[in-house]
Amino acid sequence: MLITTPDEIRAVVKSAGVVGAGGAGFPTYFKLNAKVDTVIANGSECEPLLYTDKTVIKQMPRELIRGLKIAMKATGAQKGVIAIKGHYKDVVEAVKNAIAQDDAQKDGISIHELENYYPAGDEFLTVYDVTGRVIPEGGIPLNVGVVVSNVLSLIQVAQAIDGKVVTERAITVTGEVANPGVYTVPIGTTYKALIDMAGGLKSKNVALIDGGPMMGKIVSDWDRGVNKTTSGIILLPNNHFIIRMGNKSLAQVVKQSKAACCQCFRCTDICPRNLLGHQIYPHKTMQTIDYNLDEPTENITSAFLCSQCGMCELVACDFMQLSPRKIYAEYRKLLVSRGIKNPHNRSGFDVSSQYENRKVSIPTVIKKLGLTEYAKPLYPKNSKPVSLVRINLSAHIGAPARAVVSVGDSLNIGDIIASSPAEALGTIYHASIIGVVTAITVDYIEITAN
Ligand code: SF4
Ligand code: SF4
Repeated sequence: MLITTPDEIRAVVKSAGVVGAGGAGFPTYFKLNAKVDTVIANGSECEPLLYTDKTVIKQMPRELIRGLKIAMKATGAQKGVIAIKGHYKDVVEAVKNAIAQDDAQKDGISIHELENYYPAGDEFLTVYDVTGRVIPEGGIPLNVGVVVSNVLSLIQVAQAIDGKVVTERAITVTGEVANPGVYTVPIGTTYKALIDMAGGLKSKNVALIDGGPMMGKIVSDWDRGVNKTTSGIILLPNNHFIIRMGNKSLAQVVKQSKAACCQCFRCTDICPRNLLGHQIYPHKTMQTIDYNLDEPTENITSAFLCSQCGMCELVACDFMQLSPRKIYAEYRKLLVSRGIKNPHNRSGFDVSSQYENRKVSIPTVIKKLGLTEYAKPLYPKNSKPVSLVRINLSAHIGAPARAVVSVGDSLNIGDIIASSPAEALGTIYHASIIGVVTAITVDYIEITAN
């Protein structure tokens, strides 16, 4: 079937189960249901140690351009910008060559070379760096006429139009493993199998982060499967600074913050959203931890403006080891549970005059985080077949998917196994290996290879 209209594009992208591959898992068909003038392909991959986006861009630059054109068609955009760190010259070169080969410039496609700083991939910052437009407080890129999509998601959009659904993805495996690299594996491959594929652990007593070192989550159950959103897994010693900070309980954070915050302002000085002009002041919030949610002050409701980027915690406050980020996450959860909505919606404000000066370079972040020994370029490695997958049913934004298969069913790659309710925001999951359904829980579907 020739797919030509925006509605047809969205329907195919929905059926293929494409969600934001950069971490959040927002369903891509829904993102493409917009009218904008610019689509940005986000290839900034600002999390230290990760080489996933850079790898897929180099492997499939023409698919990326095709996916970007399809997204432009769905949204009516005239401009498509591929945002990549200029620092990665081979990646920039690969895209430049592909643009030239396809004569894509005439279709409005260009490259924007970002600086090598964290968090360049935060959509608010990417949009400002690329277009000069500032997304309002509490807003989204659509508010300023832009859609931002991860580069792998756009490659998957192109593949969806070719009839391929999302059943695998590239994942950086690094840290305390013998053979770090970028492995392409079926969705649902267990963390344990992925570690084995990377040569096994180099040391004992390690913790696993799903995602990057700044925003990733510590995973305790390594028998669970990787998701469409898993850009990397990082194995770090249990006593590593990042793991110690990640494992701190909220009670510990609150107690230490009340006792030890010296009001040095460093967290506010380098908070990327504050630098963009949003009224978020983490040092003030740390001064007033009181949980008075009956009459929440701006220092509490500004939790809605926090991106959870981790700069305040892991970079600004590395000396006191306090966590405004965790305080904001807790405030946000409590506010939402009480039905309190974000009251911050200013627009038209000025970006801080310090926005450029206070960008923190990736080498500085790596040094601060104690990751120097792991910071080396990574390349694609051969994957091995897996004997089992556990496909999580709520690894996306929206309603969890429900199983449409039963234990004992035989499956081929690409068969639908679960779907969110048709009327709800959500996605579809497909079998990622040939095999038989061996377990169904509320959380995942297990398929064992034949
Ligand atoms: S950087 Fe740390 S000590 Fe300084 S104001 Fe922020 S939370 Fe307090
Ligand atoms: S995590 Fe910290 S630095 Fe990042 S936006 Fe939130 S308050 Fe600002």
